[in-house]
Amino acid sequence: MNGQSYYKRIKGFTLAELLIVVAIIGVLVAVSIPIFASQKKKAEEATCAANRRSLMAAVRAAEISDSTASDKEWVAEAAKSFGSGVTADGYTVKGLCPNGGTYTVTLYVDDTANIACDKHTASNKTYSDILGSSILSKAGEISRTIKVGNTIRPQTLNEYLNNGKFIDSESPETAQDTQTSWTYIIYQKMNLRTDQMWMIRKDGEGYALYMTTDGKPTSVTDKDGSVKVTKYVYDSSGQLLTDKTEITTAKVQYHQGTDYLVLRP
Ligand SMILES: [Zn+2]
Repeated sequence: MNGQSYYKRIKGFTLAELLIVVAIIGVLVAVSIPIFASQKKKAEEATCAANRRSLMAAVRAAEISDSTASDKEWVAEAAKSFGSGVTADGYTVKGLCPNGGTYTVTLYVDDTANIACDKHTASNKTYSDILGSSILSKAGEISRTIKVGNTIRPQTLNEYLNNGKFIDSESPETAQDTQTSWTYIIYQKMNLRTDQMWMIRKDGEGYALYMTTDGKPTSVTDKDGSVKVTKYVYDSSGQLLTDKTEITTAKVQYHQGTDYLVLRP
């Protein structure tokens, strides 16, 4: 037996065969990386959705254990139940999304809630966006009946605002006629809970919504005081113009000696 031929047989693969094997492995790796990446993304989305469901359950539990607490207290209590890594600030919760997303909690009067993640929920609408857009996109449809002289006729919200009038979350007109006040009609339609004060008025071609950032001022020292508000601008169809959002101040006034707080820019 010849030593050289034995050695040759053991060696086995030619350079061309090795190159083919390397190329095949390369193709397999190139194909599998995107598959693994998309599976990882799906897993993260599923984790985020499950965490949002858990948070919603925790908000409900907080509500059941203390129904007299405020919405924000429920959110804070719910966040606390997940440990120190989860923090709440008003209606936003951080620390539950696997990708570091921020959750926005929206509570409704029928005890349902919506929790959106800014990294994973397709429509990440903020509370003000939901409130303002829902009202203003229907401003031409939302109507009430008014008495002009001896005639009773319908008046749309559009018509009312176009006359330079304001609507407030705690409108003084509530004192006059609850059933036909814009505030009442809007809350019935919106089904939203809120512990913030807001005000809507005409702004150029569109509308402006002012909303307090720290809840409702309740103390007497707030009388005629200034509060921090966020101004949201909407176009005439009720679409939020996000680049025009600004933090500003508004005045809080008591109305004609009653307890109605009125927000004015
Ligand atoms: Zn998320």
